[in-house]
Amino acid sequence: MECYFQGCTEDATTKEHIPPRSFFPQGENDQLLTVRSCKIHNNDKSKNDTYVLAHICMNAPPESRAKEIFDKTVRPQLSHNNDALARTLLKDSREVSGGISCAVDCDRLDEFFTALSCGLIYKSQKKKLPSNYRLGHIYHQLSAPDDILCREMQNEIDKFYDGKPLEPDPKVFEQYQPVVIHPSLRRDGVNGDMDWYCPT
Ligand SMILES: [Zn+2]
Repeated sequence: MECYFQGCTEDATTKEHIPPRSFFPQGENDQLLTVRSCKIHNNDKSKNDTYVLAHICMNAPPESRAKEIFDKTVRPQLSHNNDALARTLLKDSREVSGGISCAVDCDRLDEFFTALSCGLIYKSQKKKLPSNYRLGHIYHQLSAPDDILCREMQNEIDKFYDGKPLEPDPKVFEQYQPVVIHPSLRRDGVNGDMDWYCPT
């Protein structure tokens, strides 16, 4: 089976969750999508996953559950390999009132979002992104809560969620209800977890 990553010709011997499992609390990550991946893209990805997760957690509001995720997934890794992750995060950092401001390595962010995009494209199109397509990522500067762009974005998010039922839309829910596990599907224990996939 082929690897999900654009342009990769290696055999897929492992599997990736999109978004990464580590981004979610334990017990709340069993509905993620999966794609088959080669070893190279699996290893590449896990390094960036932790880096991006650390930044998301550090930027999340204190009342969110980011601290729980940070303590579970990021904190234990900070000291690994002679403080490699801690040193990476603190590179080009500077002290600001109330804490430390860390610089973001956009190349690593790009790699993370490229892998995520390749995964979503593979999953929805059942094939990898053709080589003549190029993925680009645009990051908005949302540095301060009083930033006008930040406020506009928050308004749009509020509008999106306003009046939406907390329960899934019954119509949408129905579409996903009749799940039939076909006998040709096999249970897979790669990475110590169990997911259904279709053997080729
Ligand atoms: Zn690959």
